[in-house]
Amino acid sequence: MKQTRIAVIGAGITGLAAAYQLSKNDVEVDIFEADNQAGGIAGVTYINNMPIEKYYHHFFKSDKHIIQLIKELRISDKVRWLPSSMGFFVDNRLYKFGTPLSLLSFRPLSIWSKLKFGLGVLKIMSIKDWKSLENISAYEWLTQNVGEKVYQKVWKPLLTSKFGDRYKEISMSWFWGKIKLRGTSKENGQEVLGYIDGSTKTLLDALEKQLTDRRVKIRLNCKVNKINKTDEGFLLKTSWGDFAYDKVICTTPVPIFTEIAKDILPVEYIREKEQIDYTSVACTIIILNQQFSQYYWMNIGDESIPFGGIIEHTNMLDEEEYGGCNILYISNYLFNTSKYYTMDQQELLEEYIKHLKKINPNFDESWIAASVTFKDAYAQPIIPLSYSSIKPDYSTPVEGLYTVSMCSIYPEDRGVNYAVREGIAAANKVIETKDF
Ligand SMILES: Cc1cc2nc3c(=O)[nH]c(=O)nc-3n(C[C@H](O)[C@H](O)[C@H](O)COP(=O)(O)OP(=O)(O)OC[C@H]3O[C@@H](n4cnc5c(N)ncnc54)[C@H](O)[C@@H]3O)c2cc1C
Repeated sequence: MKQTRIAVIGAGITGLAAAYQLSKNDVEVDIFEADNQAGGIAGVTYINNMPIEKYYHHFFKSDKHIIQLIKELRISDKVRWLPSSMGFFVDNRLYKFGTPLSLLSFRPLSIWSKLKFGLGVLKIMSIKDWKSLENISAYEWLTQNVGEKVYQKVWKPLLTSKFGDRYKEISMSWFWGKIKLRGTSKENGQEVLGYIDGSTKTLLDALEKQLTDRRVKIRLNCKVNKINKTDEGFLLKTSWGDFAYDKVICTTPVPIFTEIAKDILPVEYIREKEQIDYTSVACTIIILNQQFSQYYWMNIGDESIPFGGIIEHTNMLDEEEYGGCNILYISNYLFNTSKYYTMDQQELLEEYIKHLKKINPNFDESWIAASVTFKDAYAQPIIPLSYSSIKPDYSTPVEGLYTVSMCSIYPEDRGVNYAVREGIAAANKVIETKDF
């Protein structure tokens, strides 16, 4: 019997995990990737010849799927669990945040509001059935349960930093997933975060090696422009020419999937999936010759500042690993119509400098050695009320055509752990059809 051949579109973590699972089960699989490297959003750049994530990445103690994959790839010895620290810039001051002790000295909230905040977090953590939260927005739930003051000072900035002015649409089930996860990565009461020595590149290299050892072809710079149906299966029209496969798993963002498969997907399916929207991201890495702050992670609760977070990578990792550079990520989730998304790198940096001075008044432009900005149009799915009713299944109305992506992750927030879980689950769904 002829071997069934499967094409995986996209070599982000989801696509690599799907191909890994298929190849482990002796299924013949090839990967098509538009970019010049594997990894997608978890891909890397270099600072002083050291690979580093284009977008800051860490994982949590509870991230069992990625931890299991790391174990299978025999790179567990490369994982470091590092203490994290969090700051919050609000009311013109950078406060320590994220621990019970820091809450006590967090002046923007009164004692009464602090109590409400703490009780609100406990209430969220105690909820087991996220489905009961599907039809209420985070905005409504939070204002009802923690009050307007706590909501405005703490939770609204976190929602707007991810979803801009669409923050009121976000379902409480998404918010629940986000808070629950954050509270589960602790050692002796201290939050610790997982980081792989040599960055996600170590993981990507190990995955790619396993795949190529099992004869999986990873075609980089090979964009899929169209998925066509044939009598035997599918024809991928790519920048490298046409390729025939029996089945296809598409791991691109949903709008790209419905676009490249629009000739074969039913109109109603496309219309339904068009309701799924994303925020984009512009993430600037700034290399400094001095430390900017004492925190790894800083949330920004000031509407006059155009970005929502600063991640000072070298407050978690040692700057000596990067030739003595201090590394800051300026994280800005926004819509691709925003002026900050269309600005060039230099303009964006100049704009950011004045805001960085608000956060650290000693900061000076002369500290900046270099900077680079990365952008991605599909960085964060917007999770509305009743998302379950539009969340794409792995199977599509076209037999043999599957889709899995960040949008498959729910109610948890998207992340590499769930990308691994979903990639493997979608591959298992294909394997279950047993027509091999
Ligand atoms: C700023 C930022 C910070 C993050 N930080 C963390 C973190 O700390 N921890 C964590 O766990 N997660 C983090 N994440 C989330 C995590 O990176 C993602 O959940 C995960 O990488 C998504 O993987 P994916 O494969 O589903 O999607 P993607 O990485 O988007 O992969 C999709 C791939 O498809 C390719 N593609 C698209 N169109 C085509 C086409 N037509 N033909 C061929 N290929 C195509 C793309 O080039 C891409 O490689 C972060 C995300 C962002 C934006």
